Amino acid sequence: MYFVEVILPLSLAKTFTYKVSEAEFQYIKKGMRVAVPFGKSKIYTALVIEIHKNKPELYEAKEIHQILDERPIVTEIQIAHWQWIASYYMCAIGDVYRGAMPSALLLESETLISQKTDSFVDTGLLSDDEFLVYEALQQQNSLKVQDIIAILNKKNIFPVIQKLVDKNILVLQEEIQENYKPKLVRYVRLHPKYESNQGLSELLETLKNANKQKEIVMRYFQLCASEKTQGAAKRITVKRLIEEANSTAAIIKALIEKEIFEDYFLQEDRVNFNGKIKEDELRLSETQQTAFAEIKESFTHKEVCLLHGVTSSGKTEIYIKLIEEFLATGKQILYLLPEIALTTQLVGRLRAYFGNKVAVFHSKYNNNERIEVWNQVLQKSQKAQVVIGARSALFLPFHDLGFIIVDEEHEQTFKQVDPAPRYHARDAAIVLAHSHKAKVLLGSATPSIETYFNAKSDKFGLVEISKRFGNVMMPNIELVDLKDKYFRKKMTGHFSDVLIEEITNALSLGEQVILFQNRRGYSPIIECITCGHVPHCQQCDVSLTYHKNKNQLRCHYCGYNMAKPTHCHACSSIDLTTKGFGTEQIEQELISIFPNSKIGRMDQDTTRGKFGFEKIIDSFKNRELEILVGTQMLAKGLDFDNVSLVGIMNADNMLFHPDFRAFERSFQMMTQVAGRAGRSEKQGKVIVQTYNPGHNTIQQVTNNDYLGMYKEQLYDRKIYKYPPYFRIVKLTLKQRDFDKLKEGSIWLYQVMSQNLNMPVLGPEEPAISRIRNEYIRTIIVKIPQNVSIGNTKKTIQKMLNSFEAVAQYRSIRVTLNVDFY
Ligand code: ADP
Ligand code: ZN
Ligand code: ZN
Repeated sequence: MYFVEVILPLSLAKTFTYKVSEAEFQYIKKGMRVAVPFGKSKIYTALVIEIHKNKPELYEAKEIHQILDERPIVTEIQIAHWQWIASYYMCAIGDVYRGAMPSALLLESETLISQKTDSFVDTGLLSDDEFLVYEALQQQNSLKVQDIIAILNKKNIFPVIQKLVDKNILVLQEEIQENYKPKLVRYVRLHPKYESNQGLSELLETLKNANKQKEIVMRYFQLCASEKTQGAAKRITVKRLIEEANSTAAIIKALIEKEIFEDYFLQEDRVNFNGKIKEDELRLSETQQTAFAEIKESFTHKEVCLLHGVTSSGKTEIYIKLIEEFLATGKQILYLLPEIALTTQLVGRLRAYFGNKVAVFHSKYNNNERIEVWNQVLQKSQKAQVVIGARSALFLPFHDLGFIIVDEEHEQTFKQVDPAPRYHARDAAIVLAHSHKAKVLLGSATPSIETYFNAKSDKFGLVEISKRFGNVMMPNIELVDLKDKYFRKKMTGHFSDVLIEEITNALSLGEQVILFQNRRGYSPIIECITCGHVPHCQQCDVSLTYHKNKNQLRCHYCGYNMAKPTHCHACSSIDLTTKGFGTEQIEQELISIFPNSKIGRMDQDTTRGKFGFEKIIDSFKNRELEILVGTQMLAKGLDFDNVSLVGIMNADNMLFHPDFRAFERSFQMMTQVAGRAGRSEKQGKVIVQTYNPGHNTIQQVTNNDYLGMYKEQLYDRKIYKYPPYFRIVKLTLKQRDFDKLKEGSIWLYQVMSQNLNMPVLGPEEPAISRIRNEYIRTIIVKIPQNVSIGNTKKTIQKMLNSFEAVAQYRSIRVTLNVDFY
C-alpha cells in the first residue's frame, strides 16, 4: 500500500493521508500538488509533503484524483518553513499553505460564494448563522460551500446561503477554471512570397492604389532596417507598427487578408522591465564604504546584521552594493519592503543597476503575474535573481537564497494581522535565511526596540551611520506649543503663525512642503452644541468620521455611512460642530490660507486603485504639487529632493494611544516624517505642533536621540513586562452576544491564569470594543524569556480546546496573535 501525506488549503491543523498507486508512488515527489477529494464531494488542490507506506489508523484513506505537477513547485525548505510558521504563530498549516500560494495554483471547480459588491449590510437583521457567513466574507473575497460547512459546524447550510442570496447580500458564482496562460505578443512579418527582390516590386505594384496600406508597409521596411543596424533581431510587434505608422489595426488586418503580412505570436514575460543600465558606476562615500565593510565583516560571524543609519544616510546605496556582491555568487536575493506602494520608487533605483534581474512580487499583481515570478524563482531564472516584494514574497520557492534585506524593519506592516498566519515577516525571514544559510540585513533609521535590543546584546551585528549622505545636516526641528498659540490667538484654523510663516517662506523659494496628520477625513467627531450628542456607528463602538467632500459621515471600521445630518438626531438642534481634524480638513484650510498653491493629499481616500499612490508621488516628485498633506503613508522611506519643510500638525494623538508601543511608534513616525525634509544640500526644517513640548518622546525626536528613546522604553518594557523581555500572545474573543462573550472570556481567562505560571491579563475590553456588531474581549499572556515558548503554547492550545468543548462558548471566535504588534 502506498500513501502520500498532504496539506489541504483549509484552516486545518492536521495533514491528511491519501492512497496512491505504485506508479504514482514512484512518480510523486514532495512539493507536487495533487487533486484530492475531501468531505462529501469536494475536490481540493493539496500539497504533498511526504510519501510513505503507513496506513492511517483512524480513517480509510481515499485515493487521490490526479497529480497536478510534473515536478515539485514547492521546495522542501519552504515546507519546513511553513511548518515552523504554523507552529510558532499557532495557526493551521492549511492556513499557511493557502496564504503562501498564488490562488491560481490552488484552483478547483467548485461553487464559490462571495459578497455582492457595494452592498451595505445591516448586520442587526441577520441570524447568527447568516452573520457568521457574512463575517467570514469580510476576511476573504469568497467562500466555498465546504468552508461554510466548517464555519457553521453543520451540514445543512443551503437554507442559510439561500436566505443571504434572497437578502441580496451574496452571489453565487461558478468558479471558472482559470488556467495560467503566458501572455502572447503579436508580431507581423512580410509574407514569405515577397521576400525576394522580385517579390518586392510585385508587392509595390499590388499596393499602388492603396495608399494607407502602402504607408504601413513602407514603415515596416524602415523599422526592420533600423532594427538591423542596431544588431537586434527584426521583430516588429503589431502594436509598434500601428503606433509608428500612425495607422490602425483594420489596415493591418486587411494586409494580412491580402497575404502581404502574416502575424505570429511569441510568449513574453508579463512582468518585464526594459530598464536601462546606468552607465556611471555607483560610488559609495567614505562613511558608506566603512559601513559596507563593517556589514561584510559582521556577516563573517553573524547571520543577521542591523544597519542603523539616520534618514537619508544612503542606506539604499549600501544595499545595492551588497546585492551586487551576492549576485556575483549566483545566489538569490530577497528585498522585503513594508509597503507595496514603495516598490515603484525602489524598483526604479534597482533596475538602474541590475536591469532585468529584478522581479517584483506583490499582492496587487494579478494571478498570472504572480505565477510568473513564482516560476522564475522556482527555476532559479536570472530574471528573478533579485526579488522585491512586500511580506508575502517570503513564501516564494527559493532554492538558493543568499541574502535577505528587510528595509524599514521597524514597520508594523511586516506583521500580518488578519487572516492567519499572523506572522512577522522580519522574524520569519530570519528563520528562512537560517535554513538557506543566507545572511540578513535589517535596515532602519529608527529600529524597533526588539531589533536594537538583539543587536546590543550581540545576537545581531550592528552597524551605525549617524551622518546623512553628502554631509547634509539633519533637519532642524522646532517645537510649537499649541496651548500658548491658542491662548495668544496665533492660530489660523490648525495652523500656528510659525508654521504659516515657514510654509510661505519655503514656497517663495520654490521649495516643497509636506504636512503630516495621522488621521484621514475631515474630522473624527461631529457634536451637537446644544445637547452634546455625537453620532456613532450602528455596528461599531466608534464615532463616525465626517468626510466633507462627500458630505458624509463614515465608519472607518465597517464602512457604514450616511449623509451628514442637518440637525441633531437627539434634540433636533441645528448647531452642530466638529471636533478633532483629519487630512481633509488640513487640505481645506490650506486652500484658503494659500489659495494660489498647488496642494495634494495622500491618504487611504486618495490612493485607491492600482496606481493611485504612484500618481500622487509622481506629481509631487515632478513638482506639480507644492504642498502634500498626508497620513503615515508619508513616513515610509520616500525620497524627495526638493522638500525643505515638514510640518507635523499634531504630535499628541499618536503619543496617547493605549498601546505599549505608543511612544516607540510616535518616535519612529515623527523621525521618519521629519526625515523627508532637506535630503539634498540645504538643511531641512521641521515644525512640530504639540500641546506637550516637554514630553520625553517629543524631546527625543527633537534631539534626534534614538538611544535616549531606546533606553527609556527598554526600562519601561522591563518594568511592565513587555517585549523584548516577555513574549506577548494576544487572544481576541469575538461574539455578538455581549453577555455570552463576557462569561466566556472570564472562563477562559480563569483557566489560563490558573494553568500558566506567568502573567495573564484580561479579559480586557479594548478601546474599540465592538466592530461590525461583534463585541470584543482580549486576553494577554506574557511569556518570560526563560520559559519554554513551545510548552507554553501547547498549554494554551490545550486550554483553547477545552474552551471550544464547552457548548455555550462554541460560537465565540478566538484568534491568536503571537508576538502581537
Ligand atoms: P536612506 O535610505 O538612508 O534614507 P537613501 O539611500 O534614500 O537614504 O539616500 C539619500 C539620498 O542620497 C538619495 O537621494 C540618494 O540617491 C543619495 N545618495 C546616497 N548615497 C549616494 C551615493 N553613494 N552616490 C550618490 N548619491 C547617493
Ligand atoms: Zn443635540
Ligand atoms: Zn462601523
